[in-house]
Amino acid sequence: MTLPLEGKHALVTGAGSGIGAAVARALASAGARVSIAGRRLAPLQETAAALGSHAGDVIQLDVTDAQAVDDALTAMEPIDILVNNAGRAASAPIGKTDPELFDEMISVNLKSVYLVTRAALPPMRKRGSGRIINIASTAGLAGYAYVSAYSAAKHGVIGLTTSLAAELKDSGITVNAVCPGYTDTPLVDRAVERITGTTTLTAAQARAALAATNAGGRLITPDEVAQVVLRLAGPEGDGITGQSIVVDGGV
Ligand code: NAD
Repeated sequence: MTLPLEGKHALVTGAGSGIGAAVARALASAGARVSIAGRRLAPLQETAAALGSHAGDVIQLDVTDAQAVDDALTAMEPIDILVNNAGRAASAPIGKTDPELFDEMISVNLKSVYLVTRAALPPMRKRGSGRIINIASTAGLAGYAYVSAYSAAKHGVIGLTTSLAAELKDSGITVNAVCPGYTDTPLVDRAVERITGTTTLTAAQARAALAATNAGGRLITPDEVAQVVLRLAGPEGDGITGQSIVVDGGV
């Protein structure tokens, strides 16, 4: 039996944990050869081990470093499916959001998407096909208190997605965003730690408070996000571009 993504080469950034690791596994299970990139080698190697014979390159890469991104992408086989997933969420009231924190949020969540996409695009254009899938957030579509810098960056990812989709219209390359609500990953574990450190809430109460902001009232699983990415990456995604698909358990 031929799998839907057989013969395709995918790159997933930030694939050492959480959503990125789940996306890498989903793409591999659909037959793609999956290369993974991120800052920390040990978790990347764990993800690669789970991909078995579908594991591609394992690249230690800071996605905010323009030269390192260009060098890594030049050294790789052309990419058919790019999943810009690496990101970080810092929370702080605006008065405590200093310029360094603001710049970091923009750099890791938004500029990284531009850098990796720019480097991956030329071979996609040459072949007249490709999939670019950006993991944004519901915070890219609406505001949330105490994460203004993160939310601004994720709104930027949506703008980049829709603009690039317009620019690449009729090129055979689709560009979409997936917008998860709070998802059960190490990112949420760190948010829970911050909340318990700064409020009287217990960890269970903090987790429940975050889950309650999702339309469905529960935390999303990384695998649920990965299944949406898989749809966009596969043949069913042919006619979808410039969209932001919300995964927050809502109806
Ligand atoms: P996570 O912390 O498990 O994963 C983020 C990954 O990105 C980590 O493996 C980290 O090492 C990597 N990374 C961070 N900075 C990097 C850099 N400069 N270069 C390379 N890699 C880097 O958290 P996650 O929840 O799986 O997050 C994945 C994506 O999903 C992020 O873009 C995040 O903003 C987005 N997201 C998460 C949630 C959530 O509630 N967990 C909700 C909406 C959107």
